[in-house]
Amino acid sequence: MEVQAQSQIQQCDVLVIGGGPAGSTIAPLLVEKGYKVVLLDRARHPRFHIGESLLPANLPLFERLGVAEEVKAIGMVKPGAEFVSTTHGMAQVFHFAEAWDKSMPHAYQVQRAEFDTVLIRNAARKGVEVHEGCKATAVEFLGDENVQVRARHEDGREQTWQARFLVDASGRDTFLANRFGIKHRNPKHNSSAIYGHFAGAKRHEGAAEGNITIFWFEHGWFWFIPMPNDVTSVGMVLWPYHMKTKGARSLEQFLRDGIATCPPLAERLKDAQLVHPVEATGNFSYVSERNHGRNYLLLGDAYAFIDPVFSSGVWLAMNSGVIGAETIDACLREPARAGHALQRFDQLMRLGPREFSWFIYRITNPIMRDFFMYPKNIFRVKEALLSVLAGDIFGKTPIWRSILIFKGLYYLASLGQPRRAFMAWKQRRFNIRKVDDPAVYNA
Ligand SMILES: Cc1cc2nc3c(=O)[nH]c(=O)nc-3n(C[C@H](O)[C@H](O)[C@H](O)COP(=O)(O)OP(=O)(O)OC[C@H]3O[C@@H](n4cnc5c(N)ncnc54)[C@H](O)[C@@H]3O)c2cc1C
Repeated sequence: MEVQAQSQIQQCDVLVIGGGPAGSTIAPLLVEKGYKVVLLDRARHPRFHIGESLLPANLPLFERLGVAEEVKAIGMVKPGAEFVSTTHGMAQVFHFAEAWDKSMPHAYQVQRAEFDTVLIRNAARKGVEVHEGCKATAVEFLGDENVQVRARHEDGREQTWQARFLVDASGRDTFLANRFGIKHRNPKHNSSAIYGHFAGAKRHEGAAEGNITIFWFEHGWFWFIPMPNDVTSVGMVLWPYHMKTKGARSLEQFLRDGIATCPPLAERLKDAQLVHPVEATGNFSYVSERNHGRNYLLLGDAYAFIDPVFSSGVWLAMNSGVIGAETIDACLREPARAGHALQRFDQLMRLGPREFSWFIYRITNPIMRDFFMYPKNIFRVKEALLSVLAGDIFGKTPIWRSILIFKGLYYLASLGQPRRAFMAWKQRRFNIRKVDDPAVYNA
């Protein structure tokens, strides 16, 4: 990118690319610390986004951002998560109120169009200079430690900003990781998803109405996420080899055919009508080699995304915004502490994907399914598991010994059933193998 005349270049302390949960969290937190922050989002809000089930650990952050009441107004209370196993012929509900820390008994489920709008409007209200419909197109790291970003507005106008620090919160577009060539497909995981919104789905009664339900089926699993106004998000997460069997069927037909193979879900959708076109996302599991440099950070999905099964994406994205704000403040205010601050940022960014992925990689394993169907609380392992499911992994809740015991019990159970464990390992290797991109995602 050629550098523009200084007079045309706008100055700011921090430029944030992306106004999803990560970008709309870090931006107002930096304004509170006294920085001039510009945020660009190529979309205009409200805009559709998948990822509607939130975690209890998010609630204190809503308070801190000053959006708790607005989120409550658009959210469906989610007291727990239900897992349905057709092979066991039963369901098991995990209530967040039984987690180790009893102070976070529920989360919310939200339409992301509304939720992301609440967050980005909050950022603007707090003093962030927000430009919607403005796409970052090029970046140049200057020798004087500043960074220039060029962007294009919807009307074709080009604009350039010079910042002391750059935040990439561009989500799955992975703006910086693409330019650096550091984004890699996750060799340990491989999934695709097809999803739509339904009205008239059969929900549980009372408080259980807001529970997320996960249904395992032969080729993966389904989510069933009740939201306000009778809208329920239903998604089929499947191994990519199965996606290839779609053939000439439309995405909607493929989803409906999949639902028909899972009787407990089909029963809950038998009177439901689709109210949003079916969409799909392919091979979404990836990680970037690094999440920071001297004057830039990669947050949320712009750094890594593993799998949606534990609804961790929005929480990890927003939490990366919190630790990102602390990191940038340390770098700009006390340059001598920058190295230490960036190292801490790196550790915390890797913690979330690491802890969730141990469970994600095993969630379709039959031995793990036994553990989920018949949970026991010896050595408080169930409480600790619930804390992970609640997203309570960054604080001081002392769950780690019990999590270690949970993992030990799982390995012992696998050693006790070697044939079953071996077959499951073999099946997983088959499931996650790389297949050519079926190119059906927008069909
Ligand atoms: C199938 C599926 C199901 C999921 N379900 C859940 C769930 O139930 N619960 C959950 O917590 N998470 C879920 N997730 C994950 C969740 O959607 C993401 O982790 C979360 O949205 C990440 O937030 P983010 O701010 O990093 O990125 P995003 O929310 O993607 O926001 C990125 C923003 O950057 C903007 N942008 C991109 N490129 C540019 C550019 N060049 N210039 C300017 N702006 C740009 C985009 O317009 C967008 O608004 C799911 C993900 C998938 C794939």
